Amino acid sequence: MTSLNLEGVGMTSQRTRERLVQRLADKGVTNLQVLDTLRNTPRHWFLDEALSHRAYEDTALPIGYGQTLSQPYIVARMTEILLGAAGKRLHKVLEVGTGSGYQTSILAQLVDEVYSVERIKPLQDKARERLRELGLRNVHLKHADGGFGWPEAGPFDGILSTAAPRFVPQGLLNQLAPNGVLVIPVGDQTQSLNLIIRDGDSENFVTQVLEPVKFVPLLSGTSR
Ligand code: SAH
Repeated sequence: MTSLNLEGVGMTSQRTRERLVQRLADKGVTNLQVLDTLRNTPRHWFLDEALSHRAYEDTALPIGYGQTLSQPYIVARMTEILLGAAGKRLHKVLEVGTGSGYQTSILAQLVDEVYSVERIKPLQDKARERLRELGLRNVHLKHADGGFGWPEAGPFDGILSTAAPRFVPQGLLNQLAPNGVLVIPVGDQTQSLNLIIRDGDSENFVTQVLEPVKFVPLLSGTSR
């Protein structure tokens, strides 16, 4: 990370962040690498200034265009599920729904290369700027409908979707590398987090339905 003033003061201070991380651990997040990454990542950096004092509350926050930055607990849980299910260092990971770029920045510190797709252009532009300012160079962004993944960049060892489709898109399954792992919220009014693992290099996928979640919907097409 660069020498920008990212440390924060008052409600964005290190002590405030520490309290958040403690809370995530109390709620059951156990992966220390993930907890450390959340501790050291300035979530306030990904929000409008007017909301930055709420950045270290364990709550989802608006980022404009009807979208939200996910709750820290969910970011931590999805990341630890992805890393845990892979069981090895992940080389290439695809994120569907860049949004603010916060989850992207967490992944970028834990895997080799992150590819992230966003359908709303102004959100992508802002995320690009913030990620660049943080000095994260292993992030590749694309303005596209992530329901189709990023075929030219795949296959991926891991895919994480931060928007919920009603059914798992076939394109994402196709882009999983052998033993690749997909973490995705699925559903409409009621959603659940799904963990899907490709069985070796076969066309078989093993699905585990995990906890109930609430995400914005995965929409088709793009918007400028
Ligand atoms: N990971 C984000 C979460 C943002 S909310 C963060 O940390 O801030 C989910 C995002 O998914 C929104 O920005 C929304 O525009 C985007 N999205 C929804 N459907 C999409 C699609 N089909 N392709 C790409 N992005 C999509």
